[in-house]
Amino acid sequence: MQDHSEPQNQEKSGNSCETCGDASCSAHAQNPGESDKDFMERQQLQARLCRIKHKIVVLSGKGGVGKSTVAVNLAVSLMLAGKEVGLLDVDIHGPSIPTMLGLEGTTVFGHEEELFPQTLGNLKVMSLGFFLKNPEDAVIWRGPLKMGAIKQFLKDVAWGDLDYLIIDSPPGTGDEPLSVCQLIGDLDGAVIVTTPQKVAAVDVRKSISFCRQLNVRVLGVIENMSGFACPHCGQITEILPSGGGRRIAEDMQVPFLGAIPMDAEIARACDEGKAFVHHYAESPTAVIMKKIVQPIIDMDK
Ligand code: ADP
Repeated sequence: MQDHSEPQNQEKSGNSCETCGDASCSAHAQNPGESDKDFMERQQLQARLCRIKHKIVVLSGKGGVGKSTVAVNLAVSLMLAGKEVGLLDVDIHGPSIPTMLGLEGTTVFGHEEELFPQTLGNLKVMSLGFFLKNPEDAVIWRGPLKMGAIKQFLKDVAWGDLDYLIIDSPPGTGDEPLSVCQLIGDLDGAVIVTTPQKVAAVDVRKSISFCRQLNVRVLGVIENMSGFACPHCGQITEILPSGGGRRIAEDMQVPFLGAIPMDAEIARACDEGKAFVHHYAESPTAVIMKKIVQPIIDMDK
């Protein structure tokens, strides 16, 4: 994959509701009591989102379960399958996507109306991490500010025409996932990442309930760090009792997408800023990952 630190797609923000003939679109008419500014922003947001075929949010009940790792490898797998993909990191308090893709310290270009995402091949990436002077800076923002930033990332980033937008949300069921679900009316659904431990499993139930309350379809549960892949022979050994993710998925009647073992090469790839499924494509764990994301690739037919 090639890193382009300069904007490649200086496309105009010409996609507008005025030229769109879809009278059934919710952004077609101003809502009663809606200010002109709010109406205009809603139309701008809709005009962007209209050009993205599938929007998927990656959620987890807990931090550190591998949610960003899954988001990165899902986005890269889709790109390797020939899709046009965007990856939006709204993990405002811990944006790790730039590090995982080797984009740390790179700059985002833009002007008043439009921001240009970083590009890696056919993958467009946007993260708050690109705006932090120092990656160790803490972002201390309250709800409305976070909602504003997420809205801006959706509305003002030159995503262009995409097959998929993958959104890496922070753990839990707080402001950020709520904002994403509220701002994107036509989310295709959520992928929920968990680990085998019981404490993580309890939080998965919360994430599934969260989706149900917001009418967001659960595309499936992924159990990460499920067993340990031997670096020598590739054999998977169970360290913690696994299968919790599958049991919850069955119990709550949502699809189970699969289990990813703990693999030292995944951790290495993340630290080196390399997408695991691309740079370690031949490894047994990468093959497992590819199988897991296949149903999501198959959505775009
Ligand atoms: P989250 O987004 O849930 O906080 P991350 O994706 O940032 O979690 O992952 C946390 C750490 O765990 C990262 O260092 C990542 O490289 C590592 N990691 C994630 N999944 C695996 C795995 N299956 N095997 C080994 N390390 C993993």
